Amino acid sequence: MEKKYFQPEIETMPVEELLKLQEEKLIKQVKYVYDNNQYYKKLMDEKGVKPEDIKCRADLAKLPFLTKNDLREAYPYGLLSKPLNECVRIHSTSGTTGKRVVAFYTQNDVDLWEECCARAIVAAGGGDEDVCQVAYGYGLFTGGAGLHGGSHKVGCLTLPMSSGNTERQIQFMQDLGSTILCSTPSYAAYLGEKLAEMGLTPDDIKLKAGIFGAEPWTEEMRRNIEKSLGIKAYDIYGLTEISGPGVSFECEAQTGMHINEDHFIAEIIDPETGEVLPEGEEGELVFSSIDKEAFPLLRYRTRDLCVLTREKCPCGRTHIKMCKPKGRSDDMIIIRGVNVFPSQIETVLLKKGYTPNYQIIVDRINNEDTFDINVELSEENYRKLHETDGEEAAKRDLLAAMKTMLGIRPKLHLLAPKSIERSEGKAVRTIDKRKLHD
Ligand code: ADP
Ligand code: ZN
Repeated sequence: MEKKYFQPEIETMPVEELLKLQEEKLIKQVKYVYDNNQYYKKLMDEKGVKPEDIKCRADLAKLPFLTKNDLREAYPYGLLSKPLNECVRIHSTSGTTGKRVVAFYTQNDVDLWEECCARAIVAAGGGDEDVCQVAYGYGLFTGGAGLHGGSHKVGCLTLPMSSGNTERQIQFMQDLGSTILCSTPSYAAYLGEKLAEMGLTPDDIKLKAGIFGAEPWTEEMRRNIEKSLGIKAYDIYGLTEISGPGVSFECEAQTGMHINEDHFIAEIIDPETGEVLPEGEEGELVFSSIDKEAFPLLRYRTRDLCVLTREKCPCGRTHIKMCKPKGRSDDMIIIRGVNVFPSQIETVLLKKGYTPNYQIIVDRINNEDTFDINVELSEENYRKLHETDGEEAAKRDLLAAMKTMLGIRPKLHLLAPKSIERSEGKAVRTIDKRKLHD
């Protein structure tokens, strides 16, 4: 039977009560971490903060931050707060921005995490009659395991495909009647492309919804996937350090992702000064895990740039919403002094009818930044441009749109279909060769 919420009493809890609950958990958690984690105890001692100083939610700002560097320094066991014999699982980050870090889970941690994913699946219209195809990678990456566990908790018939083997994904999708797809958005786009290539249309499959996350994606990308697979596409956000996917998820309103505030307290800070910013302002997202036992990070700086809003949501959930993260502060590329995000390029390309297959190449030659964008053409576009000799005009038009969006002029290369490698997990959008020279 289809339910509206997975855990209604928590998901729709009055805000006052929710904040009170957070406060109680926070006070307990700070003491727990101080008593059980040498690494964080030292950071608190250095800052001159004692657990007794944390008496209310606002006191959170007194606590020291944790960064990815702390995690690397404390690797592997330094931030573990339970004896290993009480832990049942290890996951690792994807290593998108450097050395991987590991996170540990007790059984209780796994259960709470899977419940968060279950909330996301139910919010996307999932129930026990659904067939949920999990095409996130299984393994150390949290994507597969998280949605797999969530799908079980909802009672969906779970199809643990993992990523890759794209034709077989579609074959099983058809044969077994998958109704929900979970994957990275770039892999979902690839599945949509493959479906058409196999001569099929969305009418040949039963998919109704997709739960996509683990990397930044634009609204234009959402529409592209929704069209090619004939579904409604929902966003889901998370990170290994805090648990995995399901830290926040989209509801049917699709105006931001509800953060599971009974487990995580979110703050937005100024990335330069570390100062907490008021609701509605853009800054770096910081999370404190107030329920985790094995790996309970407090004030972890995600480097994701985001905005929080606590508006009343038509779905009835009361938990605060975060916008689609614009990307990590370190996804931003500074080219000739101008800040460029891959998401801006994706927006222009899809608006102009190009494929979401692109790559940004930045280099420094004779002390000057070079900025190239490879854009793959669809079969149809490729044929059209070549038959009509329209390539130069198309390039000029795209260049003008890029210049307006970015403020600087890239060099564009329109490539033949299938020339850019497809991603089965997180897409690699930028190749910054300048870093190789340093
Ligand atoms: P890594 O940090 O090595 O990529 P993770 O797999 O834990 O390891 O990735 C977490 C990061 O992925 C987040 O901090 C965020 O930057 C990105 N991410 C996850 N979900 C989303 C989403 N829905 N939209 C944008 N970015 C996302
Ligand atoms: Zn909502």
